[in-house]
Amino acid sequence: MKQEEYDGVDRAALRAAIIFGAAALVVAIVGTGWFGLYQSHLLRTIDEEQAFYKDLVECRASLAALEDRMGEPGLTLAEMSDIQDRLVLERARFAETGRREGLRKGGRIAAWLNTGKNSREEVNHESLGLMLVEMDAMILLTAKKIGMSSETVGTSLHFYLVFIVLLLFTIVLAAGRLLVSNYRHSLQPLNQLAQRLTQLNRNLPESVHDTAEAASNILCNPDPSPEIRYVTESVAVLCREIEEKNKKLDEIYIRDEKTNLYNYRHFKEHLIIDVERAKRYGDSISLAMVDIDFFKRYNDSYGHIVGDKVLARIADIIRDQCRVTDIPSRFGGEEFAILFPKTGRAMAIDTSERLRQVISAEPFDHERHQPGGQLTVSIGVATWPDDAADWYSLINNADQALYAAKAQGRNRVVAFIPGKGQAEPQHEG
Ligand code: GH3
Ligand code: MG
Ligand code: MG
Repeated sequence: MKQEEYDGVDRAALRAAIIFGAAALVVAIVGTGWFGLYQSHLLRTIDEEQAFYKDLVECRASLAALEDRMGEPGLTLAEMSDIQDRLVLERARFAETGRREGLRKGGRIAAWLNTGKNSREEVNHESLGLMLVEMDAMILLTAKKIGMSSETVGTSLHFYLVFIVLLLFTIVLAAGRLLVSNYRHSLQPLNQLAQRLTQLNRNLPESVHDTAEAASNILCNPDPSPEIRYVTESVAVLCREIEEKNKKLDEIYIRDEKTNLYNYRHFKEHLIIDVERAKRYGDSISLAMVDIDFFKRYNDSYGHIVGDKVLARIADIIRDQCRVTDIPSRFGGEEFAILFPKTGRAMAIDTSERLRQVISAEPFDHERHQPGGQLTVSIGVATWPDDAADWYSLINNADQALYAAKAQGRNRVVAFIPGKGQAEPQHEG
């Protein structure tokens, strides 16, 4: 009994969550890497600008001092020469900063710096003043650049934080969604299932069949989730399978393996119950004991396997000749017991005689070597309440009638004679 495959996990949602988590991780790593590189570039630029700014400010202070001296009245030639030497020194020192790109192209300072390294091209008071004006503008511009770069650092940090917070927020939302779905699909159904199974266990029916029904009633009520419905179906399938196996076990329990008739255990249970029932309702009940004639000889000649075939065939004939309410059984060995509930002596004898005749007419393998050239049975019949007081004496008396049938020549039906302790022949072959 197959049941449809169940896939409790929402695989699409799980896959989406995993892809989303991996993508978020990649975005976070790439974003953080890019932000780190950008920040370090900005900080390096700010460092450079600040160093240039410092150089500019120092150079401007020196040039301003030289400009002041140049403007003093009555300077000697030596003093003038000293000022020009200092200007050469200052130019060489400033040129070493290496920040030529920060200078205005075609400006006075650029031209001043471009003068040969040790050349003493004279700088007059007026052009020095103009250089100072240009330098002030450069100082202002550099300070502005530093301010802008610092502002960019702050802004990018701000954006980065917003980016990370948004990313975290989205991840938390997705994880929360996954948790809620997990709770709905796993924990909640499990909890409900545990409660309903406890309820089912408290009122567990006797039969497996009713258990399957109770399971579907209790588990599926009210409003089952797909998971509970699946478990219910599984329980029902399980119960059906147990029921089928139980039926097979029940059959094995009551059947004789070789002949497929009822076994002695089942026969005896029925005999006891049916005699009690007959007592209670005033019915008759008859018992026929059937024994194969000269069967030892047959077995000795052809072996037990061939003998077993005869046993099985005779069992089939017995079953065919019985009514559904009769209990045809294998009593043991090559003996059969047939219980006829609600049946009087005459009817039991008639049925037994018909049975004897059918068996005697049946063509069995090798039967021509049997005494009389036939494979036959002898049958002893006893009836309650005419011939016996209880189930035990019913068997004994049917047995006695059987012995009488054997003694009188076999292949015949003999009924027990009440009161005389012996049996009287009814029919003979
Ligand atoms: P009688 O007419 O007096 O009943 O003679 P009999 O030979 O049938 O009786 P006896 O009790 O001497 O032998 C019974 C034989 O039944 C012995 C055994 O070989 C045979 N038998 C008993 N159970 C089985 C069985 O399960 N299979 C086979 N093949 N033979 C069996
Ligand atoms: Mg026997
Ligand atoms: Mg026999």
